[in-house]
Amino acid sequence: MTTSHSHLQETDPAVAEAIAGEERRQENNLEMIASENHVSEAVLEAQGSVMTNKYAEGYPGERYYGGCEHMDTVENLAIDRAKQLYGAEHVNVQPHSGTQANMGVYFSVLEPGDRILSLDLNHGGHLSHGHHVNFSGQLYDVEQYGVDPDTGYIDYDAVAAQAVEFDPDMIVSGSSAYPREFDFERLSEIADEVGAYHLADIAHVTGLVAAGVHVNPVGDADFVTGSTHKTIRAGRGGMIMTTDEHAEAVDKAIFPGGQGGPLMHNIAGKAVGFGEALEPEFVDYAEQVVANAKTLADVFTDAGMAPVSGGTDKHLLLLDLRESHPDLTGEEAEDALDDVGITVNKNTVPGETRSPFVTSGIRVGTPALTTRGFDDDDMATVGELIVERLNNPDDPDVAASVQDEVDHLCAKNPVYE
Ligand SMILES: *Cc1c(COP(=O)(O)O)cnc(C)c1O
Repeated sequence: MTTSHSHLQETDPAVAEAIAGEERRQENNLEMIASENHVSEAVLEAQGSVMTNKYAEGYPGERYYGGCEHMDTVENLAIDRAKQLYGAEHVNVQPHSGTQANMGVYFSVLEPGDRILSLDLNHGGHLSHGHHVNFSGQLYDVEQYGVDPDTGYIDYDAVAAQAVEFDPDMIVSGSSAYPREFDFERLSEIADEVGAYHLADIAHVTGLVAAGVHVNPVGDADFVTGSTHKTIRAGRGGMIMTTDEHAEAVDKAIFPGGQGGPLMHNIAGKAVGFGEALEPEFVDYAEQVVANAKTLADVFTDAGMAPVSGGTDKHLLLLDLRESHPDLTGEEAEDALDDVGITVNKNTVPGETRSPFVTSGIRVGTPALTTRGFDDDDMATVGELIVERLNNPDDPDVAASVQDEVDHLCAKNPVYE
């Protein structure tokens, strides 16, 4: 019998058990990490397919290996569907992740030592936007902009003034924890004024943009990058969208510049996920993701835990716990919720005073729960459970009753039938 017909449970029970355990964890917990989601069984099937066996260095029609006809089919499907979703002139679906997508853009038009202006990590930015622990911070000269400490919103006049002062070669927008829409058009204008490129990294909101419930930077920004496993539910990976002008430079920067062979099983997953996102139901999904986040914002605000910037335009909220729960760090809040089956992540907040391993906040997202069917009422209950737990982190009776409710909500809304 060939390995492809053996079952993992028999051939490698240790790994099979870990996978089964993860399946149970996902079914039995409220997944509220804003960057995570549950892909469809069709995406799982594509990602778990024989596509993983094939080398397909190069691009459709121009491969360095024979036997790539089916690779070309799936890669072209992924590209064409992405073009339809976002209206981009050129799409590269080969980046292994969102970070690799950003790398591809930097490599396409920047030289080491060039200047990047991007959003501060503590204000919602991403490591790959020039943090010193990441290649982007080591290769480039980086300055960062932040949010107005009073409003929690980006002050674009301040960004414009900073751009004139710093004279960047590239301005990066997009974030991991900024709960508001970016004014991409304004940032493109600012970039034009100082002769910089504008990279809009929509990693978190790829699904919301595809569905038209979040502003689309394609057409304004020179480059748009994204992750494909967050709100778009197309499986783990990244993508780059750009104009015809930069198409060749971007493609070369990804292969051979920064990567070898593409992960064709992931590209098959992207094609399937993008196809699902073209269906009308996906718009309903994306609208519910945002509605659910707004419901959570209302519950937290009523409980005296106003989210940073007072609310959200998208799928996530950032809670700064320093005022409402001065005795609770982000790390402790994450643990307290984890204990009762609610998975969130600790997160730095604007004006952060603690280390990134401790933090003063938590980030809470709705994409995964919405995928498993949580509606406004369910989400209001989830918000109340979070408040109850954080208000009573040491009370075992509260923990037990919250856990009961979590079990009930999970049973009512299974991830995979
Ligand atoms: C998630 C994310 C990325 C990419 O992350 P990967 O883990 O490399 O896919 C890039 N930029 C932002 C803003 C993100 O939130």
